[in-house]
Amino acid sequence: MSQGVPFTSVTATTREIRTAVDRAWADLLNSSRFVGGDAVEEFEQAWASYCGVPEAVGVGNGTDALFLTLMALGIGAGDEVIVPANTFIASAEAVVLAGAAPRFADVSPDTLLLTPEQLQAAVTPRTAAVIVVHLYGQMAAMDALQRAADQAGIVLIEDAAQAHGASWRGRRAGSIGRAGCFSFYPAKNLGAFGDAGAVVTADTALADRIRSLRDHGRTRFSRYQHEFVGTNSRLDALQALVLTAKLTRLDTWTKARQSIAARYREAFEDGPARLVAEEPGSRGAYHLAVALVPDRAEVRRQLAAAGIETQIHYPVPCHRQAPYRRFAVCPLPVAERTAGQILSLPMFPQMAGRQATLVCETMRNALAATGSRLG
Ligand SMILES: *Cc1c(COP(=O)(O)O)cnc(C)c1O
Repeated sequence: MSQGVPFTSVTATTREIRTAVDRAWADLLNSSRFVGGDAVEEFEQAWASYCGVPEAVGVGNGTDALFLTLMALGIGAGDEVIVPANTFIASAEAVVLAGAAPRFADVSPDTLLLTPEQLQAAVTPRTAAVIVVHLYGQMAAMDALQRAADQAGIVLIEDAAQAHGASWRGRRAGSIGRAGCFSFYPAKNLGAFGDAGAVVTADTALADRIRSLRDHGRTRFSRYQHEFVGTNSRLDALQALVLTAKLTRLDTWTKARQSIAARYREAFEDGPARLVAEEPGSRGAYHLAVALVPDRAEVRRQLAAAGIETQIHYPVPCHRQAPYRRFAVCPLPVAERTAGQILSLPMFPQMAGRQATLVCETMRNALAATGSRLG
């Protein structure tokens, strides 16, 4: 058996639900309802109910979930949308696709997530919304952020693409803001066998508008009437069946992720590395286990030598990416400094105890050998 530790394992996850999916797909192939239909509606209902909201709308991917939400809210040219500088590029990309301008805000040095203070500092007279990203699967401080958004008179949208099943004081990620946007890309905590996404919301009018926009702006219950310029971003029935099968396992998988994260947190308690902190009130889903690590390149080299795969999420902050530099109008020191320190450790539900032990021990030895501390 291999001594190393892979970064993640989509294969192990597929194995757990393979039989159920084979059966469901066989039935679908007989019915030929490939787009829309019962499979999609059943998943939408199950996902809405899991998130604790009345509405879920399946779409083509997570980027479209964000883009269609902005479009459905009428946010576009002339508007600004606050986005944390530390996020996956799609959070900012969706804003530009909608015709609005992202305004990057810095993040907390402890959680690496948007804070209410940074939100307030980024508000201008043109601000229409904020996209709060629960990056790595950990929840941002939702009570204070929602208060700050309300005070500023702007809409709060959750980018929960990494946070399936995470919760904030008992409320699920995606269910707190005006809308919650999910990606079901294969490697996410709940992943399809291809691209897929969803928007969840308690706002029925918003859900109906996104349903129309994902389907060419079609008038409801009509075939050839179009009330909006929309797009094609429907959820495939084949993917909906995969997601329905996987949803039965999601809580078990999340618990496994949380217990691996707890082991990492404990192992690095005495420094000099530390796992990114959780807000009190957050029950994180640990899509990623991110540590702040001194002398990262050397530590990473030693982990690799032991067969331990790591990644960096994300080495270049959004506002430093060429097409987004023109939106970087204020200093973002925390996002910039931590981009050089973050290291994503192996994290997947089927990870064995001995694999977690190997990561912890190798990390501790590597840190002791370099002798550096976090700057
Ligand atoms: C994955 C991801 C997205 C985009 O999802 P896609 O399905 O790849 O379009 C958006 N935001 C965050 C934070 C993500 O991790």
